[in-house]
Amino acid sequence: MADKTTKTTVSKDLVQEKEAGFARFIQEKGLKTTRQRNTIVNVFFNLRGHISVEELLKEVKNVNPRIGYATVYRTLHLLVESNLVEERRFGDGLARYEGHSDVEHHDHMICLECGRISEFFNPRLEALQVQLAEENNFEIYRHRLELYGACKDKEACESRQKIKKAAQAHSG
Ligand SMILES: [Zn+2]
Ligand SMILES: [Zn+2]
Repeated sequence: MADKTTKTTVSKDLVQEKEAGFARFIQEKGLKTTRQRNTIVNVFFNLRGHISVEELLKEVKNVNPRIGYATVYRTLHLLVESNLVEERRFGDGLARYEGHSDVEHHDHMICLECGRISEFFNPRLEALQVQLAEENNFEIYRHRLELYGACKDKEACESRQKIKKAAQAHSG
């Protein structure tokens, strides 16, 4: 599974499906379709991983430099409202956005040193939670499992830390 913001190619069908879903949502809400919003939605769904507003803004500006932070921010919130996107906050409190359903339900491991976010899915763990809930006479609606720690591969972790610091210095 993908980790962090990797630019692997996302299937065109999936992007189109997401765009159509968003268009329906916009229509139902009685909002106007705007070109800027469509650009943002297209760029977002072509990215994979767990994307912050800043990261998305950077990518969006490559397509249309006139699109600003506020529009990206509002569009992301519309995407969350439409249930096409899930907002997640890991240890650093920064909101990250994930366009789900291309990935099935999964949980996360977060490196506190370099910020790498790995996804995992374990059917035994999922079943165990259902069993635990049953033993506690409890019905689960949803769950969120986040494991915090550090990469065991120190070399790779340190080089990611350097990239992260350089990017932060660059964006000011
Ligand atoms: Zn994820
Ligand atoms: Zn790490």
